[in-house]
Amino acid sequence: MLLTIDRLTKKFGGLAAVQDVSANIEQGKITAIIGPNGAGKSTFFNLISGFHQPTTGQIEFLGHDISTMRADRVARLGVGRTFQTTHLFEQATILENVLIGHRLRTKSGLFDAIFRTKREKEEEKRCLEKAEDALDFVELSSLAYESVAQITQEQQKRVAFALALATDPTLILLDEPAAGVNPDETDGLAELMKKMVKHGKTVCLIEHKMPMVMSLADHIIVLNHGELIAEGTPKEIQGNERVIEAYLGG
Ligand code: ADP
Ligand code: MG
Repeated sequence: MLLTIDRLTKKFGGLAAVQDVSANIEQGKITAIIGPNGAGKSTFFNLISGFHQPTTGQIEFLGHDISTMRADRVARLGVGRTFQTTHLFEQATILENVLIGHRLRTKSGLFDAIFRTKREKEEEKRCLEKAEDALDFVELSSLAYESVAQITQEQQKRVAFALALATDPTLILLDEPAAGVNPDETDGLAELMKKMVKHGKTVCLIEHKMPMVMSLADHIIVLNHGELIAEGTPKEIQGNERVIEAYLGG
């Protein structure tokens, strides 16, 4: 298993946003996390990527215990992510956004950046190459110097993908990649996810657009009120009574 989650719990005050969840993410597959609003899906991603520390439980990635590891270290180990709300710098170009995001995600110390050491300059060059490769992957190279304010929602999602890809992750977590995108424009994003897998990445997405989830996912994990209530293939999940109940507001 690429990622193993063992009895993970995250409490915010009295509320358990994630409650005793155990699950695995298999290498080279597309895993979807679904569930009603407030089910704990984004919190689950925040725990894996080191943005939140678990209250109890373990997360193991590629043999490393990353349960309490900081976000920049988790990113450098090979976990990339996008956020539910895409935070891009509107006035900056697409390429600048990918560069800035990459630096913010992987940089811990400021010393090199402030003194512009030789190492820092080499690092900048490497980052630029990574950013350009990532833009090429999401098919936005021709728009690299456009400002983000000028592009569509779907293209902004591609920029967010590029940001996550620039750190060259093994596992990529996508939080509602198709949200806010026209339904007739989501196919391209789905194709990009398949392309990631073809290039050796493992994809885990949170998504509400069910046709997309059902056609894309190899494995589905369903959360409700912080708990894992079902998991299985799209076919298994579609017919699962507990899942249907959860969506009807049970
Ligand atoms: P989902 O992504 O499935 O919609 P979230 O993981 O965002 O759900 O939220 C799960 C629950 O945890 C919600 O009740 C939410 O209000 C709460 N929550 C999420 N983040 C925080 C936080 N930083 N502080 C307090 N409560 C939070
Ligand atoms: Mg969410």
